[in-house]
Amino acid sequence: MRPRTIPGSSGHVRPLRLLGDPALTEPCQEVTVFDDELARLVEDMYATMYAAQGVGLAANQIGVPLRVFVYDCPDDEDRRHLGHLVNPRLVEADGPVIRGPEGCLSLPGIEAGTPRHDRAVVTGVSVTGEPATVTGTGFFARCLQHECDHLDGGLYVDHLTGLRRRRALRAAAKAPWAATAEAPGR
Ligand SMILES: [Zn+2]
Repeated sequence: MRPRTIPGSSGHVRPLRLLGDPALTEPCQEVTVFDDELARLVEDMYATMYAAQGVGLAANQIGVPLRVFVYDCPDDEDRRHLGHLVNPRLVEADGPVIRGPEGCLSLPGIEAGTPRHDRAVVTGVSVTGEPATVTGTGFFARCLQHECDHLDGGLYVDHLTGLRRRRALRAAAKAPWAATAEAPGR
C-alpha cells in the first residue's frame, strides 16, 4: 500500500486544451489498463486542476482521450467533495432543473447560467479499479454532470440556447486565448 499523500502533490501541471481544440469534442475511451501511467495521469490532473483553480477536470482537457475526471468541489451546503473517477457513467440525474452559473477551465474567464439537474449519481472505478459511486447535489451535482459531458465530447455551452449561448460564444471568440485555441494544426 502506498503512503497517503495530498492529491496532486506529486503531479505535474499540464497545458489545458481550450475551446476549438478537437480533443474536447472527441468522445473519450474506456480505461482498460490500471497501471502507474494511469496513477500519474490522475496526479497530473489534480495538479493541473489546482493550478488553474478549478473544481473539476476531465482528461481530454489536457489532451488525454480517456474516461477519467477529478474533482474538488463544494456542494450548496459547503461540504467538500474530493476525488476522481475512472470510466464514470452518469446513472441518475434528477431533481429540479436549476439554471446556475457555470464555467469551464477550457473557456477561461467565461461563465453562463446553465440548466442542470439538482442531483446526480455517477458510478465508476478508482485508479486501482475499485468500484465507486459518487452522489452529488447542488453545485457538486452540476460539476458531476459537467465532467461526464466532457468525456462524451461535450461542453457546457452545448446546454445553452438563444441569447445566453450567443453571448457566451461571442465572449469566447473575443477572449485573449481564442486566437491560439483556434489556430490550425492544434
Ligand atoms: Zn469543463
